Amino acid sequence: MKILVLNSGSSSIKFKLYDFPSRELLLAGSIERIGEADSSLRLKGRNLELDERVALADHRRALESLEEIFKKSSLLDSFEELGAVGHRVVHGGEDFEESVLIDEEVMGAIKRNVSLAPLHNPANIEGIEVIGSLSPSTPQVAVFDTAFHQTMPPEAYIYALEIELYEKYGIRRYGFHGSSHSFVCKRASEMAGMDSASFDTITLHLGNGASVCAIKGGKSIETSMGFTPLEGLVMGSRSGDIDPAIIFHLYRELGMSLQEIERLLNRRSGLKGLCGENDMREIELAAASGDERALAAIDIFVHRIIKYIGAYFVLLGGADAIVFTGGIGENSSYIRARVCERLEALGVRFDSELNERGRGDFLFSTKDSALRLYTVHTDEESVIAEDTYRIVSLAESMNPTP
Ligand code: AMP
Repeated sequence: MKILVLNSGSSSIKFKLYDFPSRELLLAGSIERIGEADSSLRLKGRNLELDERVALADHRRALESLEEIFKKSSLLDSFEELGAVGHRVVHGGEDFEESVLIDEEVMGAIKRNVSLAPLHNPANIEGIEVIGSLSPSTPQVAVFDTAFHQTMPPEAYIYALEIELYEKYGIRRYGFHGSSHSFVCKRASEMAGMDSASFDTITLHLGNGASVCAIKGGKSIETSMGFTPLEGLVMGSRSGDIDPAIIFHLYRELGMSLQEIERLLNRRSGLKGLCGENDMREIELAAASGDERALAAIDIFVHRIIKYIGAYFVLLGGADAIVFTGGIGENSSYIRARVCERLEALGVRFDSELNERGRGDFLFSTKDSALRLYTVHTDEESVIAEDTYRIVSLAESMNPTP
């Protein structure tokens, strides 16, 4: 069964095509700058590599072009041949605790949640609708960034605002990166040879977006992102936690508009705001050559992570492991070392050699460490493909085609 995974953004679509049950990745690519005269379509497969500039007016044209490429490369004659399409959907609100087969009711709920993710959910909806019209009989599955965190208790997700704001308008903490946190936690429990139902861990997803999650027995009990993916850790260009009164100050005293402030917090803050660069590789190089701002940016980034680990360790009542993932978590032995050397109070000990030389998924704590330390490669698209395969196979076994 071929499964197409789509991550539709407002002007881009990222995709991967898998073959199940072998789980072979047949190709991966992206369509960017949709709606502009020089949209780009890039993809790479086993015998296929493409990098085209074409005007793709909208998501429909973009997906039609993809279908044509599949046809030319004899991968598929049309989308009708797909076993299923799995979509990343950013916000499932309080409606979804897990991935689901998309039907009218599900679409209605995703649409109701647009107000919670006005930048993301509309593009996800468009991806689903275009596939629905190009290939009406193909089952589609929605995998939500928020679903994994629906197990958080109310004291973790309710803000101390007027309670009606939660009750009437759904203003609460939701959390994101759910597929990644659940995937790396499960993988680490396998590596530890422990049942995930009794495995307590702190997972650190450190990429351009960054979040930390406290997972008790396989269930999220707290996470750093909140109502939106802006809360929590210092990120590539997002501020993470700030005193909300700063917003009023910027508005009143500096005359910034709300739109400017929103842009400042999402695009011009975090590592970029602190040192002018959001790529951790460049920041590490600058820090190594003594750049003061780069050094300070790393200090602030690490400080925030340690603060959350301390809090989550207490919330969990102790933990079995800390798992690093995401572009920085997986690849930067320097950041891992900077974090772990500050965790001595928790009995954490790490092996510098293993930390630096480890490749793929690996353990880098010493035998006498109170917590195990893992680096695990996250792959959100493969989580979406797995969920899609599981859900579609289950639906088929319940309603076998004659
Ligand atoms: P992601 O959003 O998960 O793709 O992660 C992107 C981040 O990972 C960027 O800040 C990259 O600079 C960072 N990254 C990727 N490789 C490395 C590396 N070898 N060392 C440090 N940071 C890295």
